[in-house]
Amino acid sequence: MRVFNFSAGPAMLPLPVLEEAQRDLVDHRGSGQSVMEMSHRSPQYDGIHQGALAALRRLLAVPDGYDVLLLQGGASLQFSMVPMNLMQPRRRADYVLTGSWSEKALAEARREGEARVAGSSEESSFTRIPRGEELDLDPQADYLHVTTNNTIAGTQWQEEHWASLATTSPAGGVPLVADASSDVLSRPVDVSRFGLVYAGAQKNLGPAGVTVVVVRKELVERAPESLPTMLQYRTHAAKDSLYNTPPTWAVYVLSMACRWVEEQGGTAALGELNRRKAETLYAALDAGGFYRGTAEPASRSWMNVTFRLPSEELERRFLAEAEAAGLLNLKGHRSVGGVRASLYNAMPQAGVDALVALMADFERRMG
Ligand SMILES: *Cc1c(COP(=O)(O)O)cnc(C)c1O
Repeated sequence: MRVFNFSAGPAMLPLPVLEEAQRDLVDHRGSGQSVMEMSHRSPQYDGIHQGALAALRRLLAVPDGYDVLLLQGGASLQFSMVPMNLMQPRRRADYVLTGSWSEKALAEARREGEARVAGSSEESSFTRIPRGEELDLDPQADYLHVTTNNTIAGTQWQEEHWASLATTSPAGGVPLVADASSDVLSRPVDVSRFGLVYAGAQKNLGPAGVTVVVVRKELVERAPESLPTMLQYRTHAAKDSLYNTPPTWAVYVLSMACRWVEEQGGTAALGELNRRKAETLYAALDAGGFYRGTAEPASRSWMNVTFRLPSEELERRFLAEAEAAGLLNLKGHRSVGGVRASLYNAMPQAGVDALVALMADFERRMG
């Protein structure tokens, strides 16, 4: 039996993708081999690989002048690769702190150069996204780093945050770098706003093991040649991310997940489904005083909905009942506690409806 898996990552994949992978597992389309066994230099694998790159380009509407890379090492390696490649020429960068992941990114950048905190919502326990006016931006920074969706705190940059950033950031300026690990491909984004976007695949895109980087070509060329070959973006850009053996199985599943997104109608249609899922759950949180959403309403994430019950004891009971009902992995991150429902692309509306029904029933009995 399949469950509704509200895990923050790795997370649910669309069932048709899993079924296709299962069907083709030992004999991929009559080739007599699994994708896992194929040479990454074979025409069959090349078709899968180029297909994944092309699908990402279409779905993200990547403008000309950008490279799409399929790398390994997760978003966490990008915490290092970004400063190693882009902290040029001044070795200075600005970071907006909106949660644990941006703090980790900052810590790695500080190994490479002078990384400043340009703004932070730490004082309000990361329950909000700072507005552009609150940021102290260095017009000479090599880049400005943001985390578009904060998987643990349950906040997300919304259009109004981008708009306020656009009006305050120096014109013509500093490339914007985004960790979009937990909201990539969940709704339309204007890639041209960014110099570089990176995302580990295991939340919205596919299985763990592949990391997508979309980067403006001129930034690819910033890296000092002294960096280790594998850590330079240009190495991967020059070889279509086939410089060395890519994570072939992960890329294969990613390519099918992209096709599934296209079948849903692309990011615009998916964005509407994701909006509806999030609104369903937030409406339940706002309906009474029993459940309390932790994020400030204007900064609420569509992907990770975080909330509390009146006591930790009730939270434990709620989580146990949810698990018994096939609603799994709703426990909040260990650093913040409470409940977190991750509603990535593959979570159907039915999963959210089941959660909301359980919440109403639980409140009736315990409230
Ligand atoms: C999960 C996550 C990461 C860490 O990703 P890894 O692929 O495990 O390195 C980084 N940033 C954000 C926003 C995340 O949600």
